[in-house]
Amino acid sequence: MPNPIFLSHGSPMLPFEDHEARDFLRTLGRGETPRAILMVSAHWETAAPAVNAVERNSTIHDFHGFPPELYQLRYDAPGSPALAEHVAELLATAGLPATIDRQRGLDHGAWSPLLLAFPGADVPVVQLSVQPDAGPEHHLKLGRALRPLAEEGVLIIGSGSFTHDLYSWRNHRGQPEPDWVRSFAEWMDEAIAEGRTADLLTYRSKAPNAARNHPTEEHLLPLFVALGAAGEGARPKRLHSSVAHSVLRMDAYEFGLAA
Ligand code: ZN
Repeated sequence: MPNPIFLSHGSPMLPFEDHEARDFLRTLGRGETPRAILMVSAHWETAAPAVNAVERNSTIHDFHGFPPELYQLRYDAPGSPALAEHVAELLATAGLPATIDRQRGLDHGAWSPLLLAFPGADVPVVQLSVQPDAGPEHHLKLGRALRPLAEEGVLIIGSGSFTHDLYSWRNHRGQPEPDWVRSFAEWMDEAIAEGRTADLLTYRSKAPNAARNHPTEEHLLPLFVALGAAGEGARPKRLHSSVAHSVLRMDAYEFGLAA
């Protein structure tokens, strides 16, 4: 049974960047191969949950102004309409009705880390959207509803960014990690390690510099899906910690399934 994971996907250029987070992601898929992967990426934002159901995923290059080699990358993993239907059923049962999108492929929040972790692109991938205005508790509930998937051998991955101030990252490039990033990440790491779910759900008012690190919430919300999917009493483990471009923390966590 694969444990749900939260990872930070970084800049779209990560596959070309010589960075320890890239090295970490390359090790992520080395264990037992999951039956399928459910990706919850920060880059698919919808008002209500949506899940993609395609026979084969297309690669969405959802960014602008990057070097041409980035637009050459493809990740055409098979989809799984059956798993997508199953996800929608689980969510409906939990009172979280989802729509099924029969066109959409994978955005870079999904394919960029998968390209590193599962380079063979042979494990079926289904993507689930985030609801940027619905907050952490809604995403924890999404995760809780999806827990049976983990027991069925599906790897649930929340893909976002542990910190994500995209307004200032260009100004901070090449500089050391600022205190306002470190203090937020440390608070979050402690709350995760100590299983303080109530504090995590209200991180925006409790964690230092929360709004500065997440001017909008969509890059942190996938963490709550992964946390929720492990069940109440999830056993957290930090898999990786580093910083990219001075202000983007690349931390990743595994949430061991609760007994
Ligand atoms: Zn992103």
